[in-house]
Amino acid sequence: MKGRIRFIAIAYFVLVHAAAVLGLFLPIRASFIALAAALYAALQLSTVVGLHRLLSHRAFRCPKWVEYALVSVAMISGQGSPIEWVATHRRHHAHTDREGDVHSPRRGFWYAHVGWILDDGSTDPRDPEKYCRDLVGDPYYRWLLRWRFAPQVAAVLLAGLALGWAAVPFVFFLPFVCWMHATYLVNSVCHAARFGSRAFDTRDGSRNVGWVAVLTFGEGWHNNHHAFPRAARQAMAPGQHDLAFLFIRALAAVGLASDIQSSPAGGESTHPAARPRR
Ligand SMILES: [Zn+2]
Ligand SMILES: [Zn+2]
Repeated sequence: MKGRIRFIAIAYFVLVHAAAVLGLFLPIRASFIALAAALYAALQLSTVVGLHRLLSHRAFRCPKWVEYALVSVAMISGQGSPIEWVATHRRHHAHTDREGDVHSPRRGFWYAHVGWILDDGSTDPRDPEKYCRDLVGDPYYRWLLRWRFAPQVAAVLLAGLALGWAAVPFVFFLPFVCWMHATYLVNSVCHAARFGSRAFDTRDGSRNVGWVAVLTFGEGWHNNHHAFPRAARQAMAPGQHDLAFLFIRALAAVGLASDIQSSPAGGESTHPAARPRR
């Protein structure tokens, strides 16, 4: 750890993991399973499509209300305003697997997975101004800087009042914790040499890992992504699947997405040396 340990974050992690485990021991109805699966899918799609491909990389364009809707769903996870999220992610792309990367397994697998979130020194308060000037003026995103947990508290209250408090651990916290670790796998497993494979000679240690792609709706094709960060479609070979890109295509089909950067040719690589491996 470079900075102080965030003990509040540790307490929060312990609490949500305990609530998720509790969900497995309380009575479960069939409708709970459907709702939990729906929440997992909603958190994945909103994070992957909204925070990552839209806001971090501008892989497509959409009406502002669609952007706000995606971000609002993603914020149920309490992972912070897009101003922080996007700044952290763009810094990861700017310094991937080198000094200055926020979460590289070069500092240990578990540091990349979750340790960086508990480390007060992993990010720099100046990152938003440096990496995120297109978002820092947005009033909604500024409000979320201060009230990052408001959407999560609202979602828990809504679930408790509508379904009963005994349903909340299984319907909310279990899918939330599953989504959390699936997302973290992109930072840990998809940058660790012992997993998956590489299709492009990027200057980082990014990997394509199929099972992470399944869990994250396409984000596991992470070596493809580092080779062509702006491409909306991260699956770039036969047999690779990308549910998030299908969602973007569906948005486009009903007129809610345009200017889609959908292929390596359409994506602007930040790695001029990126080339297919022979
Ligand atoms: Zn990466
Ligand atoms: Zn990215």
